[in-house]
Amino acid sequence: MIPGSNMWDERKVTQVFTLEVGRRILDCPIARTNEDKIIWGHHSTGTYTTRTGQHWLLEKENLRSRESSLWKVIAKLPVLPKIRIFGWRLGRGALPVGHKIRATGMGEGICRLCGNYVETVLHAVRECTSVQEILSESGMVNLLPQGPFRDCMERLDASQTLLASEQFSFLIVLLWNIWNRRNRWIHTNQLIPARLVSEYAQLVHGDFQKSNENVVNRVTCARGKKWMKPEQGQVKINVDGAWLAANRTVAIGVIARDHHGLMIDGCAKMVEGAHTAETVEVCAFEAGVRMAMDNGWDRVILEGDALSIVNRLRNGDQDCSVAATFLEETREALRTHTGFTVQHVARDANRAAHELAQTCFRTLADFSFIFDVPDSISSIVIHDAIFSDCMHLSI
Ligand SMILES: [Zn+2]
Repeated sequence: MIPGSNMWDERKVTQVFTLEVGRRILDCPIARTNEDKIIWGHHSTGTYTTRTGQHWLLEKENLRSRESSLWKVIAKLPVLPKIRIFGWRLGRGALPVGHKIRATGMGEGICRLCGNYVETVLHAVRECTSVQEILSESGMVNLLPQGPFRDCMERLDASQTLLASEQFSFLIVLLWNIWNRRNRWIHTNQLIPARLVSEYAQLVHGDFQKSNENVVNRVTCARGKKWMKPEQGQVKINVDGAWLAANRTVAIGVIARDHHGLMIDGCAKMVEGAHTAETVEVCAFEAGVRMAMDNGWDRVILEGDALSIVNRLRNGDQDCSVAATFLEETREALRTHTGFTVQHVARDANRAAHELAQTCFRTLADFSFIFDVPDSISSIVIHDAIFSDCMHLSI
């Protein structure tokens, strides 16, 4: 490190270490603190709890991340909400099949469709001969991954990896229909033919896809994905940080606008020192706060699209992450300026600040401006100002 600073001595690091190791060292942000203390490195609070300990152990086995990515896919499936819930229950093996009911002392647990095997979740939606017929009718039978699998979650995860997203959402709709057919047979003794189950699943899936496309097109700008003007007397400052891993270049963009949507101050500049994608967002917020203080504004909304930083600025008294040590100055400013608020915004609504940072990358120069919108963002600023008041307008 350069003595008395929080910057790496780049020349010394590259002299002492190999190119690769040196690059990794230079990529490490240096916290703005001189006090060392012991912290639990697997949670941003730095405090060890059994919960975070267990989370870390699961992460270690790569189970947690695998599961959570599967749940994220299921949660976003373009299907009816009740079918998404069915997908989650299926992955968890949380369906009231024969062998589970038998465990409570009720029934034999044998499949009521084929009458030959104990009914597990896997049997009910995949292995039963009655189900195989439906999978074959739908054309899915040869597309599904072959085992062995430890559980339903693993099987579903493999299907999700193997299939295209539309095929996977159809699979979940189909399995939902298979499960409903099984229930109907048990409760009313009516067995829907395999061909009809397959056709109905295709109908449900196709109809939902079409209606979903229309809805998405209609409400694009009503979902908070567009910039909103502040109230009269308030200033809104949008901030964004950009980080080019290839050459470790970091830039920030900051733009302040009034209640008409007119730009009243702005800057874009390169940032020195080692940074991560997260710490550069901190620098952007820091620059936004400084701009507000320099101008003497007292009612300010600071807006950025880095959710983790917004959350840390709003809460996070106990926060030992690297980003948190960079946040101290901004936190202190927010404590003393009660008219300053911080809020998260969708990336689409933060395009002006984003584009400013990108312009900085392209020109490799710092620039600041007042009342004179740079060409690179003029169309975005005009668009934001015009469309800010029309929550239901289509674009
Ligand atoms: Zn069966």
